[in-house]
Amino acid sequence: MRDSVKLSAGRSYLAIPGPSVMPDQVLQAMHRASPNIYAGELVEMTATLPDDLRRVARTKHHVAIYIANGHGAWEAALSNTVKEGDTVLVPASGRFAFGWSEMAEALGVTIEVMDFGMQAPFDMARISERLRADTGHRIKAVLGVHVDTSTSIRNDINALRAAIDAADHPALLMADCIASLGCDRFEMDDWGVDVMVTGCQKGLMVPAGMSFVFFNDKAAAVRATLTRVSRYWDWTPRANPEWFYQYFGGTAPTHHLYGLRAALDIIHAEGMEQVWSRHATLARAIWAACDHWSEGGALAMNVADPSLRSHAVTALRLPSPRATDLRVWLEENLGLTLGIGLGMAPPDSAEWHGFFRLGHMGHVNGHMIMGLLGGIDTGLKALDIPHGSGALTAAAQVLAGAGRA
Ligand SMILES: *Cc1c(COP(=O)(O)O)cnc(C)c1O
Repeated sequence: MRDSVKLSAGRSYLAIPGPSVMPDQVLQAMHRASPNIYAGELVEMTATLPDDLRRVARTKHHVAIYIANGHGAWEAALSNTVKEGDTVLVPASGRFAFGWSEMAEALGVTIEVMDFGMQAPFDMARISERLRADTGHRIKAVLGVHVDTSTSIRNDINALRAAIDAADHPALLMADCIASLGCDRFEMDDWGVDVMVTGCQKGLMVPAGMSFVFFNDKAAAVRATLTRVSRYWDWTPRANPEWFYQYFGGTAPTHHLYGLRAALDIIHAEGMEQVWSRHATLARAIWAACDHWSEGGALAMNVADPSLRSHAVTALRLPSPRATDLRVWLEENLGLTLGIGLGMAPPDSAEWHGFFRLGHMGHVNGHMIMGLLGGIDTGLKALDIPHGSGALTAAAQVLAGAGRA
């Protein structure tokens, strides 16, 4: 009998929904000695970042940078806008909405979660109705996750603004764009978003460890009414630093800043519209393949309606324990790592092994997505998981069509 042949040597591919694939330019920019943090090149380079971050977020307003992951940005945003005893409304289309609400609760804020389940977007009429009933304006903010990475549902943040306005309610609109920024179209100012949080390790293609809170003047005015704000999370000095150290409340994240500079150069050289349409096209290729695989009766996309799917991440179902089997097989045999399911079932349950996710955010192109899909097609065959044929042809047709003038 022959031993099985492992095909995992070579460049591995981490196709999970964050951290995402990092461009060589980002890694090379970070590979250097520590710079002087008091004067000179780092200080000058850092001053160029806020404008280019604003261009990604599509805002003219303020940005504060934190040495933290996305959870830190969640806490920073809340710390500047709500206080103990306030109420926030949290519509939920997945695990991340619950995570943000739990953080608010731990800060002494009353949370009202409207759970729309793991396969449906926000119901704007119900949100509007809830806000209309809040005649005393106890609700100070609506926390909306744009793309919930656990379910891959993309919520319409522009429509969420309209729902708040329809109720004539003064609550701040706060958006979590940690998964979506630089992948799915997002227009902070045009959509009337008051506060937006994001991280650096997804669409921004930098190693985890930095996050950003964008806020407008309405949110700044709310901040000004708060009498106690954590000195570390306070966004005011970070967004308006008189001295370099105020950007970061201490030592700068020196190497992350160089990485971010390189990533922003890549994004703006491509152009935001093109970045969004690249992600949209690559996502369509993935869905086309999934549609064919689904004909086998085992695999299914979590979100049935394409107009509600994110272009950054795709959540899939495959009867337990086949989702885990597939992930393990691909990593061991092909050097391809897919994302675990998140929030769809308790981590210690048998059902947990029935979900997985594909990350397609940031530094991804046509040949990588065809490699990702080819890998999955191979794994389905190796494990005898029933699947329809023609998936790769369908994906290739989407990309070929996009490549035609
Ligand atoms: C990744 C993610 C987070 C959490 O970010 P961390 O950097 O892991 O703290 C929050 N919200 C969404 C939508 C995410 O995708």
